[in-house]
Amino acid sequence: MAKRDYYEVLGVGKEASADEIKKAYRKLAKQYHPDLNQNNPQAEEKFKEVNEAYEVLSDPDKRANYDRFGHADPSQGFGGGQGFSGGFGDFGGFGDIFDMFFGGGGGGGGSTRNRGPARGADLQYRMTIEFKEAAFGVEKDIEIPKAETCGTCHGSGSKPGTQPETCKVCKGSGQQETVMNTPLGRMVNRRVCPACQGEGKRITHPCSDCRGKGVKEVRRKINVKIPAGVDTGNRIRVNGAGEAGAKGGPPGDLFIVIQVRSHDFFSREGEDVYCEVPLTFVQAALGDEIEVPTIDGKVKLRIPEGTQSGTQFRIRGKGIPRLGNGVARGDQHVKVFVVTPTKLSEKQKELLRDLSQELGEETHEQSKTFFERVKNAFKEVL
Ligand SMILES: [Zn+2]
Ligand SMILES: [Zn+2]
Repeated sequence: MAKRDYYEVLGVGKEASADEIKKAYRKLAKQYHPDLNQNNPQAEEKFKEVNEAYEVLSDPDKRANYDRFGHADPSQGFGGGQGFSGGFGDFGGFGDIFDMFFGGGGGGGGSTRNRGPARGADLQYRMTIEFKEAAFGVEKDIEIPKAETCGTCHGSGSKPGTQPETCKVCKGSGQQETVMNTPLGRMVNRRVCPACQGEGKRITHPCSDCRGKGVKEVRRKINVKIPAGVDTGNRIRVNGAGEAGAKGGPPGDLFIVIQVRSHDFFSREGEDVYCEVPLTFVQAALGDEIEVPTIDGKVKLRIPEGTQSGTQFRIRGKGIPRLGNGVARGDQHVKVFVVTPTKLSEKQKELLRDLSQELGEETHEQSKTFFERVKNAFKEVL
């Protein structure tokens, strides 16, 4: 992210007096102070930005440098005064200085800011649903294990009526400093206090319910509405149903990952449903009206006479409803296959022989070309 102009950050003009700058800073620092903005994660960043701007614009030398060089001024990383600057490279710079306000460790950022509220983790839940449930939607109660703010201590981790004590090792700063005198000046190295992990406080009487963690593992029942038209791999977000945030931070979200169980009869591709239906030799030859199962129930399907095995018919609007639409639907594709009769009686065989003779050389045109193709294939192979 590009650094904002310091004057812009404080909302003052380039000609602002030292007094105006101070006034603007006080107002903004109050507005964005992290203690007053527990539920606004952006406040911390704003507060840092304001402090950084003030740090430079309140110092006549730094301000002059900034006016000349802008953010590129190389001397900014070195700073001066305030007792914890004077280092260089990783030890100097504003990152460290401002992390101090939040008990963070030296440099790097990331998870070192332990005091502020943090958003809870997202959870993922794999849900297997039936074919028709995916098609028409379903409502399900699920039970998920998750961390919730402890109700006994309201997340503080301390037994009600007790207070955490200030860490004796770091005196509440959350950091440990080592000062080295070098020919270039004093170098200050800072790291997260090992005694309190940067919290600055230590719980002396841990809450017996959560053993001082401030959160508890619970199994929570959640009612989830799965919309019509979902398919394997779809993710449904349940806002705020994830893990509790630390120290009053907002909860994470719950993601339901859908797995649709395969069906014995239907298969699916997007919004279209596929199935295969057997026909007797006679139905295929003479035509018929058959009943075909759909996800809505039975429908009639007209089979024209002379239907070949493998022919596909389309039943419009009997597919899966389009996700998020609720009206539009895919189609159902019905592939028919002709079942060759087995275990024929002597009489049936006789009838078929008669039929064959009757058909004679006047085989159906389609069959003729088909047999022709087979013959040619044999010629190629031999
Ligand atoms: Zn507790
Ligand atoms: Zn400590």
